[in-house]
Amino acid sequence: MKKSISILLALALLFSCMLFSLAEDTLSPKYVFMFIGDGMGSPQISATEYYLGTMENPDATMPTAGKLSFTDFENIGIMTTYDATSFCPDSASTATSMASGEKTISGVLNYNVDKTESFKLITEYAKEAGKKIGVVSSVSVDHATPAAYYAKATSRNLNYEIALQAVTGTTLDFLGGGSFLKPNGTGDQENIIAIAEKNGFVLANTNEAILSLNSESGRTVANVPDTADSSSMQYEIDRVAKEAAGEESISLAKMTQAAINTLVNEEGFFLMVEGGKIDWSCHANDATTSIYETLAFSDAVQVAIDFAQQHPDETLIIVTGDHETGGLTIGFATTAYNTHLDYLSNQTMSYVAFNAVIKSLRSEKATFESALSHIEEAFGLTTTSDQALTLTAAELESLKSAFELSMTEADARVLGDKEALLYGGYEPLSMAVCHILNNKAGIAYTSYSHTGLQIPVYAQGIGAEKFNGSYDNTDIFTKTMDIMGLSK
Ligand SMILES: [Zn+2]
Repeated sequence: MKKSISILLALALLFSCMLFSLAEDTLSPKYVFMFIGDGMGSPQISATEYYLGTMENPDATMPTAGKLSFTDFENIGIMTTYDATSFCPDSASTATSMASGEKTISGVLNYNVDKTESFKLITEYAKEAGKKIGVVSSVSVDHATPAAYYAKATSRNLNYEIALQAVTGTTLDFLGGGSFLKPNGTGDQENIIAIAEKNGFVLANTNEAILSLNSESGRTVANVPDTADSSSMQYEIDRVAKEAAGEESISLAKMTQAAINTLVNEEGFFLMVEGGKIDWSCHANDATTSIYETLAFSDAVQVAIDFAQQHPDETLIIVTGDHETGGLTIGFATTAYNTHLDYLSNQTMSYVAFNAVIKSLRSEKATFESALSHIEEAFGLTTTSDQALTLTAAELESLKSAFELSMTEADARVLGDKEALLYGGYEPLSMAVCHILNNKAGIAYTSYSHTGLQIPVYAQGIGAEKFNGSYDNTDIFTKTMDIMGLSK
């Protein structure tokens, strides 16, 4: 009797092991989220967590870090991002690597180095497997990173051709974020929205329409009504100010929720969400704005985390960046071992919003004193003595030089190597102000372009353990395909 019980037990154990390994082999996520913080490397993540911790714990006696939504994910890796052009790659080639598993040259979307052969995208494979496909970006929806997930183009600047692929192709079910950069192409071409509607897309271009999207909405193009620079969504720092003033403005998190609401279905979905303006603000060396952008991106990931809690054994979330932008670091020559990240909280608007202030100062031929009062209002930098943000004589001198250049119309400015180094082609006064505030806070940038830092990858959910370790950005494609049970 005892013997037969042990045989039965052994058989049951064997059977359950077989079932378990069968389940392990076949379990693939129904819902896949790919989050890309454009320009988001470890410095952007660290600066945001340290800023959060500093602001949330004003009385702390020791440095206290805050937490973004995704930095506690169980699986963490690190990846190389160089492309066929450089160790400092661009967004088109890096997104190509993640979307199609191939390296190419900067500026090219899903074409080989010779620009003769196009690549098949993970979204195309996922679509063939029955999934719905969504692409969301805080910049224009035809920008390099979103485009890499639905288009193939020999140049990222072919915005009309890229948009045309979005609205005439069969891959996309949801495209949301800013609007199209060149909806009328050369001016005489058919409007992209008109073509989208002809091809069965629903257009959601009011806050109300975007917030009421649902699984019955069908294929959708969602463009926020209050677009900012270059057809992008508002900078988060400016969006928060708008909402504080009583105006509604869609966040990246709300756009992500709208995408989920539209895409959810029995076969599942693949959704790529880009935080595109972490990159833009770091190009412009505007650290405070980039911290707000990273927070907005983290909030968007939180929407996926909440969704995953309702679908625990069916969801995979991957969070990474495409490259680092600006050579941001924590620590500056004059602050040595100290930081004062709380100083950044004095900034109330993005560099783009401050550029508009400078434009009006220029048109009214304002004095330097008048500019200084606007600088104090928007950045906290002051000429009042003995304050934390009191401007030194040297800082005032550099502001004065930048002010004089900014008061000349851009096309009449004489810029030499020194100005290229100081302002990187941006509005001189905005750059001078951002650099001074950054440096007083104990942070700094080395570049107005992308850098070659390796980028962290965070993953959680079904198959996420495959993202542990060290690898290349092309492996994001390979690993995700593998986890989804898709093959080339
Ligand atoms: Zn990028």
